[in-house]
Amino acid sequence: MTRADVTVRWPSMDTTDETFELFRLPDPDNHPATIADRLLDLPEHAHLRDGEARIDWLMRVHPKFKGGRIVLGTASMPRVNGELSELFDWMLERLLGRMPDFLIVLDLSYWEAATPLQREIICYHELCHCVQKVDRYGAPRFTREGLPVWGLREHDVNEFTAVVQRYGAWNDEIRKFVAAATAHEALIHHE
Ligand SMILES: [Zn+2]
Repeated sequence: MTRADVTVRWPSMDTTDETFELFRLPDPDNHPATIADRLLDLPEHAHLRDGEARIDWLMRVHPKFKGGRIVLGTASMPRVNGELSELFDWMLERLLGRMPDFLIVLDLSYWEAATPLQREIICYHELCHCVQKVDRYGAPRFTREGLPVWGLREHDVNEFTAVVQRYGAWNDEIRKFVAAATAHEALIHHE
């Protein structure tokens, strides 16, 4: 399927101009959901499979920059506040065919150029943002209807390379991060 085939266009708009197109649905032949579906079998993502989380994907056509870097992907719980929330829900539901619990947006250019491993990693990363909330004792939370209470999780580590270069793994967060990389290296070299 060519790029143009999956482009959604409104007939009233100039079809030769692609600059207005911000997002598009993923190419069915190269859909991140295919990779994500496999990753949901991993224990770290099992809560999403068990709770039947509705996860939908969109591709961002024009790169978005944050702090001078291209945002490769974002995971959100698609809700807006205020007067237009109903309109937003309606538009999203029309676009996706349902109201998702999580909406993951990936940079199209990155996705198209990425290797299969890079694609898997970005899907895995975005799924790590999607969690079931826990109560203060660490038990998974459910609604009164027995459905999971979904939430978003931030990255485990937020630090500058320069700090680690100068001060080493100075807190638990960074120590865990470094330990994970070391354990992974050891695993690879044993195989
Ligand atoms: Zn992230």
